[in-house]
Amino acid sequence: MIIELITIGDEVMTGHTVDTNAAWIAEQLTDLGVDLAWRQSIGDNIDAMIAAMTHALKRSDLVLTTGGLGPTDDDLTKRALVKVFQRNLIFHEDVFDDIQARFAKRGIEMPPINHNQALLPQGATFFPNAFGSAVGICLTENNRTLVALPGVPREMKQIVTDSVIPYIQERTKDRAVRVIKLRTTGIVESQLHEIIQPEVTVEPGVKLAYLPNYRGVDLRVIAKGSTRDEATNKAMTLINQLERLVAPYAYGTDLDTLESVVGQLLADNDRTLALAESCTGGLVGERVTSVAGSSAYFLGGVVSYSNEAKSQLLGVRSDLIEQHGAVSQPVAEAMAAGARQRFGATYGLSLTGIAGPGGGSDQKPVGTVWIGIATPQATRAQVYHLGTDREIIRERATSAALELLRREILDIPS
Ligand code: ATP
Ligand code: MG
Repeated sequence: MIIELITIGDEVMTGHTVDTNAAWIAEQLTDLGVDLAWRQSIGDNIDAMIAAMTHALKRSDLVLTTGGLGPTDDDLTKRALVKVFQRNLIFHEDVFDDIQARFAKRGIEMPPINHNQALLPQGATFFPNAFGSAVGICLTENNRTLVALPGVPREMKQIVTDSVIPYIQERTKDRAVRVIKLRTTGIVESQLHEIIQPEVTVEPGVKLAYLPNYRGVDLRVIAKGSTRDEATNKAMTLINQLERLVAPYAYGTDLDTLESVVGQLLADNDRTLALAESCTGGLVGERVTSVAGSSAYFLGGVVSYSNEAKSQLLGVRSDLIEQHGAVSQPVAEAMAAGARQRFGATYGLSLTGIAGPGGGSDQKPVGTVWIGIATPQATRAQVYHLGTDREIIRERATSAALELLRREILDIPS
């Protein structure tokens, strides 16, 4: 299946909006084992749209577009579809009912202009939009399909995840390609490479990629075979080997996240968690609670940014702070113990660090983060040096804290 993407919008062409839609879609397709063959970007210009779509439909089986589906005059994608596929726009009652219901639910009177969004090309099928009023429009002619998606990333992602990916999977299920990701954290790409490279020979038809981000490094295996089973076997053979080699750092595969894995471990073992966050300002709590069902194990957290908050809300002795500083082992331990005790949780997890750009010193440079953990048996803390950029330090700290907890539950030394 040859797939092509057209991102539409003046903002994208002028650089005002970075084309994250293209990057995200490309990544999703790679994870499915299908390649994006072509990519185009164009402005809000009907002639350019028609030209781009016509060209794309000549060389690609499936053309995806994002942008220009809104109700306003500058949203021209539908008009281009009508020309390219030579269809009329007809009023779709069911789509209109959905749009009206969406406004009613929010208690807003529907602006008359949204009526436009139920005027859709004849013979199209629609992919529902959970977050907005522009549905995904799917048109097929001569075995070539075009799916037009809204430009708003959140809406586009939901439709791709819930409708476009299943659509592609259904049509590529006989393809003998398998993609599996092994997810690691707490180790940098080059160290992983040093462990893996001497031990692993990658078979022909198999590709191994290292994909780093601030939360960890994913090892992505793409295997091709003459049958799907053969591809799966090839991929699994390498994944199993990698898993053995990097065992302590590997927390999951594919759609697992550190927070979902830790959540599952807490739930499975009937354990609970409380947080005490300073330099991350609630980011760990955000990740923990992004997992549906986290109320089963997450009791709560304190964002204790000031010394007073650490003392008053978590019972950290002020002399500890005076003697050792807020970013120190004893304070991290006292924060973790305080959160554990005040929330009555199995585990208390704490973070205190210097995210910068100011506030660093020779002994405690920017990037120094103490992470504490209090368990029914003991309380301890560990120091991390997480770089020099504020946002990266905070991001890495959240992963380091979740990883410390994962290892504690699984009894893996850290
Ligand atoms: P709306 O109903 O909001 O008008 P739409 O489908 O018409 O949606 P656009 O108007 O093209 O979409 O884009 C809406 C917003 O989505 C843009 O302002 C931009 O912030 C974001 N956006 C559009 N295209 C992209 C892209 N390729 N990558 C990232 N963000 C994008
Ligand atoms: Mg728009």
